[in-house]
Amino acid sequence: MRAVDIIAKKRDGLPLTAEEIDFFVQGFTSGEIPDYQVSAWAMAVLLRGMTVQEAIDLTMAMVRSGITLDLSSVAPVVVDKHSSGGVGDKTTLAVLPMVSAAGLPVVKMSGRGLGFSGGTLDKLESIPGFNVSLSVAELLANARRYGIALSGQTPELAPADGKLYALRDVTATVPSLPLIASSIMSKKIAGGAQAIVLDVKVGRGAFMETLEEARALAQLMIRIGEGVGRRVTAVLSDMNQPLGRAVGNALEVMEALETLRGGGPPDFREHCLVIGAEMLLLGGLARSPEEARDKLLKTLEDGSALDKFRIWVHAQGGDARVVDEPALLPQAPVIEPTPAPRSGYVAGIDAREVGLTAVDLGAGRQRKGEPIDPAVGIVLGAKVGQYVTAGKTLFTVHARDKTSASAARGRLLAAYSWSEEPTSPPPLIYEILRGC
Ligand code: URA
Repeated sequence: MRAVDIIAKKRDGLPLTAEEIDFFVQGFTSGEIPDYQVSAWAMAVLLRGMTVQEAIDLTMAMVRSGITLDLSSVAPVVVDKHSSGGVGDKTTLAVLPMVSAAGLPVVKMSGRGLGFSGGTLDKLESIPGFNVSLSVAELLANARRYGIALSGQTPELAPADGKLYALRDVTATVPSLPLIASSIMSKKIAGGAQAIVLDVKVGRGAFMETLEEARALAQLMIRIGEGVGRRVTAVLSDMNQPLGRAVGNALEVMEALETLRGGGPPDFREHCLVIGAEMLLLGGLARSPEEARDKLLKTLEDGSALDKFRIWVHAQGGDARVVDEPALLPQAPVIEPTPAPRSGYVAGIDAREVGLTAVDLGAGRQRKGEPIDPAVGIVLGAKVGQYVTAGKTLFTVHARDKTSASAARGRLLAAYSWSEEPTSPPPLIYEILRGC
């Protein structure tokens, strides 16, 4: 087999065999197939697409490029959860302790923020001492002992995806459905979960801006998962405005804690209940969404979810006092509430703009590996559908200095749109696609 023939076949729109895909993936993982050929192939895939079978074969070839975790010592069914990325999306921080407290052990690999979207590892690292680099042995030991463990992606899991993603990033080949779907699913399958809840975000602050694109991605990921014996549910959820009110690492931890205490913004709390319920359903801990929801609500009411968060932080070396004393989290030196410039109904808050403003404040990074500032960010005072009186706080900027606070203020004011007439918030959940 020759790489050039495989590229030509895809260029001509022909489906590749499982053997050809495996040859190509193992070749670029080992370095035998050079980056320029992989780049040409990725562009051919982007332009010509792939059949579902090719996407399954690509996923499994990337899984075979590294190790696969065996979670059978943790529980008979371990359910993973993955968000396609958004703004203010701190769901993992609240949902993992809720689901674990409801009796389903959780083991999760998470990522860092990139571009306008935040990352769970960065959020957790704002808790002093929290270690997000567990070895596979530590991850499994914590999951068995505490029923909850989370780590960054280890390089041994689906290394082909890491290499391919880096190339796609610089060759304009990220937005290809089969490449995105196989990238996400290869990591989830290598991570060992038998069942997966995918939170596919839709809108301005998401990868997929339209419901149609998000549905197509979700359907492909479900078919890939089922093709290799995994049960997959996809929740298509809104990301036109930020989720909850806080955007920024320590600020989002505080909001997750408020939610685990039984409060928190209603949209964020509801989102966690929906995602958590789908996890319990797949894990066999509930027979209906209502029963699952009741179990999760109980963990909020009886304090067991908050206790689980405390145990989790302690188990991963973090300062668990932050649970009761959030002031121990990093605090920004400049905290500036911004009054609404007018009265009216909030018609829209451009999530991408809010995410990019948070990045400019220092909460995120433009390039992989850049340091971030855990304390800075934004807390929205009003969300879509709310009536605001001129002069009331519209949002609060948490910044390192006055100059960055002032730049953020201007950008955020422009991210709001207004209406004289009552407006409705976008639906929180568009669809739930449950595989068989
Ligand atoms: N997230 C991933 O892990 N891979 C992609 O290709 C896109 C988003």
